[in-house]
Amino acid sequence: ERIIVVEDLHFKYPDGTWALRGLSFSIARGKKVALMGHNGAGKSTLLWHLNGLFLPQQGKVQVEGREITPSTEKWVRTRVGLVFQDPDDQVFSTTVKEDVAFGPRNLGLSPAEVEKRVQAALVAVGMLEYQDRAPQNLSYGQKKRVAIAGVLAMEPEVILLDEPLAFLDPAAQANLYFLLEELHRQGKTLLVATHDVDFAASWAEQVLILKEGKLLAQGEPELLLNED
Ligand code: ADP
Ligand code: ADP
Repeated sequence: ERIIVVEDLHFKYPDGTWALRGLSFSIARGKKVALMGHNGAGKSTLLWHLNGLFLPQQGKVQVEGREITPSTEKWVRTRVGLVFQDPDDQVFSTTVKEDVAFGPRNLGLSPAEVEKRVQAALVAVGMLEYQDRAPQNLSYGQKKRVAIAGVLAMEPEVILLDEPLAFLDPAAQANLYFLLEELHRQGKTLLVATHDVDFAASWAEQVLILKEGKLLAQGEPELLLNED
């Protein structure tokens, strides 16, 4: 089943910059996908389209067979979670626990269900003992884990991560790798934007390479061996 389908997607920023110029691809449910390409290739702009933060100006995006439109964008955000590159764009509550609870509470879940999801998400990222701390006082790597927990607590089917390994120390990278493997075992579809060729080659089942807002190549990680 193709859980994500992107067809002829175009997007121009208000200043006239074309970030996406006719992008098409699809992703099967449960796959581990690496999204690669130089700075400015359009990776972040694409991720913003996949969970409905941006709506297509031309072309379309489908999630689980439904096109993203103004009437489905709220639903899409419950199915597709996005972990931003910079956790300071995502982590803003007064305590870690409140931060992770924000999304599920917005879904209108019962307090008991919210609590259950928050605890499970904090355990998954190894941050349970920090639940009453202020996120502002945590390290970069810890904030990143709180941001990931906030997305996990929404229980999305698809998880998008923008440069999740950047600025993490090797131990934190190894832990994140382990977490991604666990999410894969649970059947989640994972799309990771990364510059890290070694990571993409060893982790991904499918690689998408963007260039100037278009798909330059896609396939198994072996194709990276032919790239610069
Ligand atoms: P990547 O994530 O691969 O680095 P981006 O999606 O951030 O690529 O950027 C794609 C293109 O859009 C680049 O040319 C970038 O300079 C431009 N761009 C990104 N954000 C904005 C913005 N807010 N306003 C204008 N242009 C932007
Ligand atoms: P810092 O930015 O201060 O290095 P990190 O979050 O990168 O903070 O790492 C702090 C500690 O937490 C490290 O010892 C790291 O191994 C551990 N750690 C990082 N990510 C996870 C995780 N997902 N689960 C459990 N422990 C983790």
